Amino acid sequence: QVAARMDETAVGIADPAARISVLLAAQKAAWSTDVTPSHAVRDGRLDRLDRMVVAWESRFAAAISEDFGNRPAVVTTLTDIVPVRAAIRHARRELKRWMRPRRVSLAWTGKPASAQILRQPLGVVGIVAPWNYPLNLMLSPLVGALAAGNRALLKPSELTPAFSEVLAKAVAETFAEDEVAVVTGGPEVATAFTAAPFDHLIFTGSTAVGRKVAEAAARNLTPVTLELGGKSPVILDPSVDLGKAVPRLVWGKLLNSGQTCVAPDYALVPRGRVPDFLAAVKAEVAEQYPGLPGNADYTTIISPRHFDRLVRLVEEARERDAEVVELAGPHDPERRVFSPVAVVGAPDDTGVMAEEIFGPILPVVPYDTLDEAIAYINLRDRPLALYWFGSDKAAEARVLSGTIAGGVTINDTILHLSQDDLPFGGVGASGYGAYHGEAGFLALSKEKPVLRQSVLSGVSLLYPPYGRLATWM
Ligand code: NAD
Repeated sequence: QVAARMDETAVGIADPAARISVLLAAQKAAWSTDVTPSHAVRDGRLDRLDRMVVAWESRFAAAISEDFGNRPAVVTTLTDIVPVRAAIRHARRELKRWMRPRRVSLAWTGKPASAQILRQPLGVVGIVAPWNYPLNLMLSPLVGALAAGNRALLKPSELTPAFSEVLAKAVAETFAEDEVAVVTGGPEVATAFTAAPFDHLIFTGSTAVGRKVAEAAARNLTPVTLELGGKSPVILDPSVDLGKAVPRLVWGKLLNSGQTCVAPDYALVPRGRVPDFLAAVKAEVAEQYPGLPGNADYTTIISPRHFDRLVRLVEEARERDAEVVELAGPHDPERRVFSPVAVVGAPDDTGVMAEEIFGPILPVVPYDTLDEAIAYINLRDRPLALYWFGSDKAAEARVLSGTIAGGVTINDTILHLSQDDLPFGGVGASGYGAYHGEAGFLALSKEKPVLRQSVLSGVSLLYPPYGRLATWM
């Protein structure tokens, strides 16, 4: 009934704020008629989501490439389609176990009552995604939301208009509007969206916008998961084998042309190894992306504004006497191909050292002792990811216990994200809360403790009048 009413009301409403409140009201109304959906209902939604991703894959890839200028379909397959389908598979495999009530044993003071914890959906979840992996960062949180039994409204980025349009069509074809729906638009729409009284918000984006989202959500006491960005360091230990480490580092840095939240942002390199490191990086860039800027495997920069920002970062570092090392051919500003650049010794207050780079620029920070490298990281915002390369187990242990980061990959980059059983989330300025796998299910569930009193209870002995109790004590 609610779905039928929605067809008449939300369709055709042009004003985004009105559309958001109509959709939210419809989803809340529909939720209240089935507060804790069965396993079959949830599994059915996940199945439909999977079928949607398969059926629309080539249209998603073409739209994302159009939004970027050039983004190879294989990159979209590997980084958007495959992870979402893996997340759906994983959730469907584990769902019965995740949904099961947890038995809790009581302290002797509680006996002979019994207790359990029920895992219930929160209601309606709002998901706001960025442009860099537009499908993955929208649908992976949705997998957790649907598995946990929620309904969801999705708000993609205005920088991926072609993708957003395809997503809206795909979702409308797959789900009733009171199950899952898409709202498109720029920052004004995003502001109205995050001000709406959702039962939970998952926001993926920049730290600056994340602050605004947290403020807006606080007004409704809406809990938020903030998946933000920042500068993720790489430490190359003196024990590193550059021949093994550099290809993995270059892959992680240049995937999607550095437009990755967990991309290695800068590299801490033992001072004496810097020349060898730079030579190895340059050779590896030529190996992975020969012929730049004319290489179709290389993703273009999302917008002229972002391209110009990267140009400015390098120019500022050069003016401040940093060594700028071009790692491949020239840039192609017309097509927004930004060829990789390393920057050595930029002062701390330059943009390359102070801001998240989000592009193919690799600042190199020479260091003398491991303590110095650890202190460098700890004196800055807590990173979303941290990478360490080496074979010295004692040094590895010192880095792991001496730093805090959202997640870590040892002797590679990015890959901790690819495992559904590893919770993914930031800490400090890189965000709070986590999702993926059971962590995503739990983030969007209410764990409700229930105590069931026994007929044999002796608690009445504690009731007033307390004079009676005093004779026992
Ligand atoms: P962004 O913060 O500019 O935009 C993200 C989303 O927020 C978009 O949908 C946008 O419309 C919306 N938005 C804009 N203004 C808003 C406002 N005032 N209130 C509410 N929402 C608003 O980020 P971006 O440029 O799209 O993405 C890049 C950033 O995202 C980088 O910092 C990157 O590190 C981060 N990121 C983090 C992760 C992660 O999982 N932690 C993943 C990808 C990207």
